[in-house]
Amino acid sequence: METYQESFLHKKDAKITNIEEKEDFLLVELDDTIFYPAGGGQPCDTGIIKNNYFEGKVVNISKKDGKIVHKVKIIDGTLKIDDMVSCEHSINRRLRLVRMHSGEHIFMGALLKTIKDIKVNKVRLDEDESSLFVICKNLTWEKIFEAEKLANKIIKENRDIIVKEITKEEAAKIPGLRIKLDRIKDEKIRIVEIKDHDISACAGTHALKTNFIGNFLVTKFNLFKGDYEIRFKTNVSEDLFELARIARLSSSIIKKDVKEVPEFIENLMQENEKKTAKLRELSASLVKEFNEEKINDINFVYNTFDEVEKKQLIDQAASLKKEKTVVCFLNKLCDNAQIIIVASEDSGFKANELLKNLMDKFNGKGGGRDNFAMGSIKVEFSEKIIETLKELVKTTISNSS
Ligand SMILES: [Zn+2]
Repeated sequence: METYQESFLHKKDAKITNIEEKEDFLLVELDDTIFYPAGGGQPCDTGIIKNNYFEGKVVNISKKDGKIVHKVKIIDGTLKIDDMVSCEHSINRRLRLVRMHSGEHIFMGALLKTIKDIKVNKVRLDEDESSLFVICKNLTWEKIFEAEKLANKIIKENRDIIVKEITKEEAAKIPGLRIKLDRIKDEKIRIVEIKDHDISACAGTHALKTNFIGNFLVTKFNLFKGDYEIRFKTNVSEDLFELARIARLSSSIIKKDVKEVPEFIENLMQENEKKTAKLRELSASLVKEFNEEKINDINFVYNTFDEVEKKQLIDQAASLKKEKTVVCFLNKLCDNAQIIIVASEDSGFKANELLKNLMDKFNGKGGGRDNFAMGSIKVEFSEKIIETLKELVKTTISNSS
């Protein structure tokens, strides 16, 4: 086992074996390191290396051709080959990652037992909230709850987490071993077993017993580019209380028992969908009503509506654009009223200019093109809009003739 794989080691002395300067950083190699170089979804450790003459911040670690290179930002002093330094990374961060990483193994094992066709694609661990990307046909909360329950049962049972090294040949004989053999270059393979539950190849840092994880909580999941991303946390208590707070508040708003909240909301959503469809139907027949008036040779088409669907109103206004026509529709909402103006090319009017004139008068906002414009004003001005526009059309015609 490498020193950086010792889960609870966060402080150790080491000797500098190589240094390179690169821009404002030092690229440092050590004879032995406690800093985990990113791998298997686990991010690298960050921390401090220092001695009496030097202090630097380890900001990143890379592993290339078996060499582990620490990218160090100099805080103070100088460093040379063969110097001894004391190395330290944040134990709190490491412990959080240990919990996340061990929890992920247990949960993945639980998912495999719950959902037959599931495959893990990748893992992204973080100290606050981690992600597991899986591929399966149809993931549901019910399935996730089942796997989450099993994961927490195994955590509580305080099972052993066994780490050992085996050969590729031995690995091929272990039934159910989660491994991507094609990706493994070394002859020796490190495997991590959650006793009688899950076994997988992994280079990361893990707990010794499952109880150390505390608990496992899936926070959400969603489908992203063909993968399901399952987000999770470990060792939570505040989050659980926050979720319980939301559940209790929701149940008191709807005056039902907490257990009835999901079904109640589902029914509400269905009812709402039906009502929206009805409203759409109603709105479609309402927008067909309009008034028509001749101002000289211009057909002035107008009407005022109460909360009809915007798209239907726009479509209707556009369909009324015939020869020498100006259409003005007003849609009264709560505090505002929408104004839609349509002008035919041969009318001699431009919809955006007419709208601008109205917006300037009534302190509204909006814009548009020559034949279509849309704006919004305070609802109390809505009674005056049609009359004002009518006057504007009239004066423009008489001024131009
Ligand atoms: Zn692992």
